[in-house]
Amino acid sequence: MSVHESWSLVCRLFSGGTPVMRAALSAAELRACETLGAAIKPTVVSRAYALCPYCQLRNGQIFSADEEGQVCLCPECGRIPITANDRGAVMLDEHWLRSRLRMALDIESRDGVTEIVDGVWRLGDARREPVLLARSLLRLWAEPAIFDRIRVAGAGIRVIAPHSPATRGAPFPSGIEWCPLEERFMFYGGRISLIGGSSGLNAEEPSPRDPSAPVYGPFSADFHWVTLPDWEHGPIRCTEGQAAIFQALWSFRGVPVDGDRVMRRAGLSSGKPNDLFKVKARYKGDPEYEGPLFAYRALVKSNRREGTYAMSCANATPSSLCQTT
Ligand SMILES: [Zn+2]
Repeated sequence: MSVHESWSLVCRLFSGGTPVMRAALSAAELRACETLGAAIKPTVVSRAYALCPYCQLRNGQIFSADEEGQVCLCPECGRIPITANDRGAVMLDEHWLRSRLRMALDIESRDGVTEIVDGVWRLGDARREPVLLARSLLRLWAEPAIFDRIRVAGAGIRVIAPHSPATRGAPFPSGIEWCPLEERFMFYGGRISLIGGSSGLNAEEPSPRDPSAPVYGPFSADFHWVTLPDWEHGPIRCTEGQAAIFQALWSFRGVPVDGDRVMRRAGLSSGKPNDLFKVKARYKGDPEYEGPLFAYRALVKSNRREGTYAMSCANATPSSLCQTT
C-alpha cells in the first residue's frame, strides 16, 4: 500500500516540478513522505503569505503578533494563528531521483547527468543507449531536435517521463522508447527499481490486451494499427490491403523496391501501393479514412521517376519478418 503511494507521490512531485503545501497532502501522502525520508525535502513556499489554516481556501499575509506568535490574516476568516507546520511545503529532491534512476538502470557513474534543456536530463548510457529523463513528454514533442543532440549511431534512445493525458500507445517513432515513470519503476526498500529488470527495457513489450500496441516500429503486431505521435486521433486503423502493404514494405527493411514487388509481396494483384490509401471525395476529412493516408505519407517514401517505394522506419527490424520473394 504505502510502497505504491510513495512512488505515486514521487511521480506527482516530479511531474509538477514545484513544492506542494503539506496542508494539501492527503494522510496517505503524508505517510509516504515519512517512508521516502531524504527524498522529500521540507521547504517554504512563501515567507510572506500562507494558506489560511482555517478555511484552506484563501491566502493570507503572515505577520507576527507578540502574544499569539505568527498569524495569518485571511481575507475571509480574519486573524488565524499559524504554526510552522501550516506554512510548510514539501518538494522532491530531484538530484536523489536522478541518481536513483541511474542506479536502477545500471548507468555507470563516470558519465554524469547533464541538463539538456529545462526539464530534460540526460542520465547517461544504459547498455550503450542514451537515457533521457523528462518532466513532460510535451517538451520532447515540442522540441524533437533534443533527440539529435544525444543520439548515438546504431543505438536507440530511452525516455523516462511521467504519463501525459494525451498519450496513447507509443508516443515516439521507432528507435525511441518511452518508459512511463509511474509504471516502469517502483520505490521499495529505500531504492528505486526497474520493474521487469533491465532486460525488459530492451525488449519491446506490447500490452497483450491492446491489439493496437506498436510492436514493429509504429505498427501493431498484425500491421493493422499504426501509432504516430503527431496524429491526434489515436492509433490509426488500416484495412486488410493497407496492412498488407505496410507489412510488405516493412519486410524490405527500408530498401527502396519496385512498386510491383511490393504488391506481389503484399499478395495484391494490381495497381500501385499508394492506390490503397487514396481517400474518396466523400470521406475527405474523416479521420477513419484520412488516418491510413496520413500514416502512408509519414512513413513511405516513393520515387515517382523510378517507381520505387521505401519505408525507412523499417531499417532496424527483426529478421524474422524478412522472407525472400
Ligand atoms: Zn480563511
